[in-house]
Amino acid sequence: MNTHASTRPVLIAGGGIGGTATAIALAKKGIKSVIFEQAPELREAGVGIQMPPNAFRMFERLGVLDEMLKRAAIPKNLVFMDAVSGGEILHIPIDDRFIGRFDFPYAMIHRGDLLAVLAGVCYASDKVEVHTSTTISRFEDTGSGVIAMSADGRRFGGAALISADGLWSKMREQIIGPTQERTDNYVIFRGVVPVEAMPRHDLEDAVVMWGGPRLNFSHYPVRNGTYYALGASTQASVNSLEDYQAFTREQGEAAVREAFKPMCEPIQRLFDRIDFGRMWKLYDREPVSTWASGRVALLGDAAHPTYNYMAQGACMALEDAVTLADLLPGADADYADVFRTYQDARYVRTARVQLTSRFYGDLYHCAGVSRDVRNTSLSALSTDQLYNHLSWLYAA
Ligand SMILES: Cc1cc2nc3c(=O)[nH]c(=O)nc-3n(C[C@H](O)[C@H](O)[C@H](O)COP(=O)(O)OP(=O)(O)OC[C@H]3O[C@@H](n4cnc5c(N)ncnc54)[C@H](O)[C@@H]3O)c2cc1C
Repeated sequence: MNTHASTRPVLIAGGGIGGTATAIALAKKGIKSVIFEQAPELREAGVGIQMPPNAFRMFERLGVLDEMLKRAAIPKNLVFMDAVSGGEILHIPIDDRFIGRFDFPYAMIHRGDLLAVLAGVCYASDKVEVHTSTTISRFEDTGSGVIAMSADGRRFGGAALISADGLWSKMREQIIGPTQERTDNYVIFRGVVPVEAMPRHDLEDAVVMWGGPRLNFSHYPVRNGTYYALGASTQASVNSLEDYQAFTREQGEAAVREAFKPMCEPIQRLFDRIDFGRMWKLYDREPVSTWASGRVALLGDAAHPTYNYMAQGACMALEDAVTLADLLPGADADYADVFRTYQDARYVRTARVQLTSRFYGDLYHCAGVSRDVRNTSLSALSTDQLYNHLSWLYAA
């Protein structure tokens, strides 16, 4: 094994959005990395993902802006609707004013396309090596380097380790100790359908989020408007984390169908297009301020898993990747020092996303008087007020 840090790669556990973005950001600084991905290939599930302007700012830094824009569908509006009455609560125009304010559009991309672009850059780079079918389960920090150990007993040496292995991160526990996952017991069914299979509706050019009592429904175009991404979510009636973990896809489908029965007619027309083949359970964790230990750092969902209600989890992973690489002077860096600075630079912003996402979830799912307060207060906001509200997140 080489002993000079400059010739040793940075090891990255996890080849999702965070891991691949990190490898690209490091390569741009001339730093070699090796991605270890447990799956047999770098791939994302076939559903849509919303990419707000702060994601595009990172795409520009990673040199993939044009490729992403080619694959993106840019809506005319972000719309929040009341799932009970069918009435609009608010809309945010994605127009020249929006781009003037935040520099980039708000867009939607097929997840497969997004990861394919990032993975393609990694495979084409002579600074990035990719090992698939490799699960990293532990690490050893030797002080002068790091050893990542795979589940099948192999040992890989590197200058440092970045753990981008998602919500169920194996390295997280080794760095910060055990932390319990948290949930509000929501489940979601998601999928994409060709645009021809969608019934005509009034909000075709928009990202639409419907909020209702203990449920939400979303739809938006992807792949330049040739496909639609759809999601239907409701709260499982369970009494404990164990019951939620045991909650089955069949129970979820029955719960979603029951919850959506009383919803407004426009939702009923779109609801049939939901793919009930796979159910996702939604977790986050309490925000923490420690993500690093010596030559090892957490990144993306491994550091700050968040609910999906602000569409920011992947954006935060992209920002982490660019921030981390910006702080590294080169391959000979004092990694322990840089990783501490990185965590300190990032944890308040990502914690704010985690906590605000919980609050947005409550806003989407409320009923009764809370719903009246939500509808009355949000519908009174002007476009400028809405832009101001989003500015901490979307503006540079
Ligand atoms: C329903 C839903 C909707 C969402 N919508 C949006 C949205 O619109 N916009 C947005 O920005 N975010 C959204 N998110 C959040 C976003 O999906 C995540 O924040 C993002 O995928 C995190 O990326 P990551 O690379 O940190 O982790 P992951 O995407 O979890 O990737 C981790 C990778 O590591 C691999 N891996 C795991 N363990 C190991 C190991 N031990 N060794 C090697 N490899 C390992 C995994 O196979 C995976 O490839 C949504 C999330 C959900 C659940």
